[in-house]
Formats: sequence, structure tokens, C-alpha cells
Amino acid sequence: RQEQYRKLRDVPAVTKDGVGIDLHMNAGLLVDLQHLAETGAISVGLFRTELQFMLASRFPKMSEQERLYRAALDLAQGKQITFRTLDIGSDKVLPYMTQLQEENPALGWRAIRIGLDRPGLLRTQLRGLLRAAASRDLRIMFPMIATLDELSAAKTLLDREMAHLLRHGREPPKDLKVGIMVEVPSLLWDLQEVCSRVDFISVGSNDLMQYFYAADRDNKRVSKRFDSLSAPFLRALKQIVDTARASSTPLTLCGEMGGKPIEALALLAIGYRGLSVSAASIGPVKAMTLATDLRLARAFVTGLLVEKTAGHSLRDALRTFAEDQ
Ligand code: PEP
Ligand code: MG
Repeated sequence: RQEQYRKLRDVPAVTKDGVGIDLHMNAGLLVDLQHLAETGAISVGLFRTELQFMLASRFPKMSEQERLYRAALDLAQGKQITFRTLDIGSDKVLPYMTQLQEENPALGWRAIRIGLDRPGLLRTQLRGLLRAAASRDLRIMFPMIATLDELSAAKTLLDREMAHLLRHGREPPKDLKVGIMVEVPSLLWDLQEVCSRVDFISVGSNDLMQYFYAADRDNKRVSKRFDSLSAPFLRALKQIVDTARASSTPLTLCGEMGGKPIEALALLAIGYRGLSVSAASIGPVKAMTLATDLRLARAFVTGLLVEKTAGHSLRDALRTFAEDQ
């Protein structure tokens, strides 16, 4: 299998009926970046910057962050990297940060909420990113945005950092694209407006699923009860594609479900054309893409989504469909 997948490295991910799919890679540490060339991924669709912070013994200084981001851009050799700003709190603990005792950490002080309440922390990171990307393309993505106000506040901090950079006569990035993760359900009802204010969006299906069913993603007792291939969740994911497409907002999905072939098949069927997955998943997802007649898959899944009701999983039906194909 591994050998087979390796052979697919330079084969474009195109369905049997000619629809091109963009396969991006998730990364978090510099060592992951060697997989960009190995897998043939077209970019790093999600760089989890917090991993570096989790390994450190104290908050990395701005200069250390700048060095790391520059090294990442160098290693990517011209391929783009979507840097997600710090997503700490909840399951991502920094040993040197005072642990808050929270009743519900996943619903608590995490990700952009910390960044906005401790703007010095987020601004330091943004400064490091802007400096590292001098004369190069830079993509910045904010995690856990739940309201338009949070998006505005995050963008204001970025604008201030850009102004600071220019005031100090530093070379700005050649191009700066700003996007957010769609992983809190409240955004689904503001998505049109969100799309008009960002350059791209990426669905964080791990968290979106957790908040959608109110089921802790790390608690098998409850997380196993719900399926990401349930009709209601797929309808929500489809609503995101339809809204993004209506405004031509570039869209990817970067949660774990995109890396599983049956799930990825469902995502292509409802309209996703860009997935960011772990390095090990690029081969399997590409193999699925090459073997899929998307017209048939779309008709099949659309039919099921009309028929199936709450709680119903499309998994068995999709597996049978995939085997037939
Ligand atoms: C997600 O929530 O789907 C995601 C990609 O981010 P993380 O798993 O890092 O929360
Ligand atoms: Mg997430």
C-alpha cells in the first residue's frame, strides 16, 4: 500500500469524471514539512502553531517565533503555508501557563478567546509571522471564531501589527491572506457576512462536530455515539460549501474526517474541492479521488440526504457505494 501511495505522489488528484481536488497537508512542527515534497501535497493547509509552544518550557520570544516561521517558509520551498494562530486551552495545555480550573474547558477560555483577552500574546505572534514572511506570501488563520465581533477584533490586531511593521521600515509580505476556521456552529448563521470579510475559510470538523452534537471529541463514551457521516452534520457541512461558493470564497476542510477515504468521498459528493489532511492520509484520499465518479457520488449522497433523518448515518450506504465503485 505505502509503495502504491508513493507512486501517486505526482499524479494529480482528479476524479474519474475530471474534477480536480486540492489535497493540502496538515503540519505543526518543522519536521512535518519534509512530507510536503514526499506526499505531493499542494500546500500546508493547516499549520498548528501551538505545537511549538507546547514543546517549549516558556513562552517563545518574538524573535524565536520569527525564526521558526521563517524556517517553515524556507522548508516549504515556495509552497504556501496557512499559519493558524495559537489554539491553546482546552485539550492543548501549555505547561508554563497557569492552569485555569474550568468546569468545561472545551467551552471555556481557549484559542482566539485567549488571543483577544491577552492581545500582547497574539500581537507577538502576528509580529513574528509578518516579519518572517518579508517579500513572501503569508496566510494567517484565526481559530475558534464564534462571532463577527471576534473576527473584527482579530483583524484589527493584525492591521495594527502591519502598520507597526511598515512604520519600522520592514519589508511587508508580498501578499497577505486572512481567513478563519469555521468550527463553532454559531458562525453558520453569519457565514455570508463572514465570507465577505475574509480571504478564505477552513472547516475545523473536529471541533464543529464536538459542538454540533455537544459531545466531547476526546471522550469516547459520548463521541462514539455520534457519526460525522450523519445526515444532519453533512447538511451543515453542505450549507458551508454552498455559502462559500455563492461568494467565491476559497474553502477547505482541515479536520480529521477529510483524511478518511469514506468521509472524504462524502465531502467531495457534497461539494468540497479542497481538503487538508495528515501526511499519511494524502495517498489514501488521492486513491479514493482517482477511483470516484463524482457525478454518481453526488447523486447518491444527495438522494440519501433527502431521505435520511436526524441521527441517521450514511456510513454503511457509502461504504457499499465505494466498494461497488
Ligand atoms: C478541527 O477542529 O477540526 C481542527 C482542524 O483543529 P484542531 O483539531 O487543532 O482543533
Ligand atoms: Mg479545532
